[in-house]
Amino acid sequence: MVKYIFVTGGVLSSVGKGILTSSIGKMLQARSLKPTVVKIDPYVNIDAGTMNPYMHGEVFVTDDGGEADLDLGWYERFLDLSLKQDNNLTTGTIYRSVIEKERHGDFLGRCVQIVPHVTNEIKNRIKYAGRSVNADIVLVEVGGTVGDIEGLPFLEAIRQMRVEEGYENTLYVHVALVPILDVTNEMKTKPLQHSVNELRRIGIQPDIIVARSPQMIDAETLRKIALFGTIPESSVFCSYNAETVYQVPLLLDKQGMGDFICQRLGFKCDTKDFGSWQTFVDAMLHPEHEVNIALVGKYAGLTDSYVSMTEALRHGGAACKTKVNISYLEAEKFEREPNCVKELQNFDGVFVPYGFGPRGTEGKIAATKYSRENNLPFLGICYGFQLAVIEFARNVAGLTDANSSEINPDTPYPVIDLMPEQRGIEIKGATMRLGTHKILLEKNSLAYQLFGQQEIHERHRHRFEVNLDYIDVLKQHGLQFTGKSSDGLRMETIELPDKYFYFASQFHGEFKSRPGRPSPEYFGFISACINKKLGKPKPFPNNNSSFQ
Ligand code: GLN
Repeated sequence: MVKYIFVTGGVLSSVGKGILTSSIGKMLQARSLKPTVVKIDPYVNIDAGTMNPYMHGEVFVTDDGGEADLDLGWYERFLDLSLKQDNNLTTGTIYRSVIEKERHGDFLGRCVQIVPHVTNEIKNRIKYAGRSVNADIVLVEVGGTVGDIEGLPFLEAIRQMRVEEGYENTLYVHVALVPILDVTNEMKTKPLQHSVNELRRIGIQPDIIVARSPQMIDAETLRKIALFGTIPESSVFCSYNAETVYQVPLLLDKQGMGDFICQRLGFKCDTKDFGSWQTFVDAMLHPEHEVNIALVGKYAGLTDSYVSMTEALRHGGAACKTKVNISYLEAEKFEREPNCVKELQNFDGVFVPYGFGPRGTEGKIAATKYSRENNLPFLGICYGFQLAVIEFARNVAGLTDANSSEINPDTPYPVIDLMPEQRGIEIKGATMRLGTHKILLEKNSLAYQLFGQQEIHERHRHRFEVNLDYIDVLKQHGLQFTGKSSDGLRMETIELPDKYFYFASQFHGEFKSRPGRPSPEYFGFISACINKKLGKPKPFPNNNSSFQ
């Protein structure tokens, strides 16, 4: 029998539901249980792929090519899972499927309604997520805030699941903000009380309430929350600000949350073991070194736009006992004030992330040029890879005004061009080259040293790629293409072996980066940054004599 834990949020969004849900999963895993996770996003979009990262944060790419909400990234990082696009439900996916069934005639002449047809579709998908992977528990995070109009059919569906699956198989967790008023230094529970009331109005009585607060709540606040929430004090927990989010499962477990959940759901869990998680957290909390990284991007104002990249850099840092300080720099600044690019000398490494469209690209190219010419460790991912090829084409291979046809369709040298199968595609949703593809690495290369094997599998999300017409000229000038798709026609990595560390990939290593098992390209980059800072020889000496 699969059991279900539903996580809702109140007062405001971004209250940390994703981290809480992931942390619950971690506490269950520590007790040898097998959780999976479903994220519900009540917006009407089919998936996050068509949404601006500047408003919604990054688009997380799953192995099967889903363009998902960034919370799936947190679940994967915390629980070391490979989730599928089916683990992310939106109003769009639910209604599309209900409407397709209606057109197909599956409802036998009935009037199709939110209850039961839409709610049945939601419940079936939640149950399928558990069944399909043989999970013990499905964690269901309902995005948005209780009371949102779009969320209602989803809340109704999870309300029904209590009736259908039984009390002992379902658990409702509600998390809400408990702010501290700076004038009086007082913890305020009223907004939380209102959100619990709103949830009850919909027919859901929470079993657990989590106060999200800057500090651990005091006894009086806890008592109040329990009283007004109609739950015992032992089912009130506090998720307070931690130095790193990876501490949260440990902090909640210490308060007894893991034991409480297992008891309530009838799991017999006498022992628990967080395994290497604690070691990883300790490495994050007690670094021996520090590096300063310049992330030169387009969505620098919203760090959630780069959350997987940020975490991958941190995972790499923890593996080198190094604290990674990231400055999110707006690339356009280097266009407006070209001299500012020199400020990069204050950093230990330059990182150019993913991106779309022309804005900021010249600034990113300037930053890439600066790091190449000044031998600053450099890592470029996806757009960062493509822009590095452009920079090299222009400034080393002499292809003046080389560009990507995404940025300038009239460039004389389209060194980056639309992939052939993308031509003629007009629909934007889910039409990029997505998900995991095989990559073959040259043996005698930095790529091989980093990944330690010739065949790797990494995730992708792009429409453009290196134009094969320019490979020879770029190679002649020293740019090495060391990773390729299995048919050899897609360039996946570049490197400059003379440099201390210069590496870029078309694929996104960050999506598979895990605490304690960092993405090799991110690990390599951070370890180069720290080694160079400490005046050591480069960590990945690349004997290039026999390189083809
Ligand atoms: N805009 C580029 C492309 O579509 C790069 C995409 C990305 O960085 N994810 O190919």
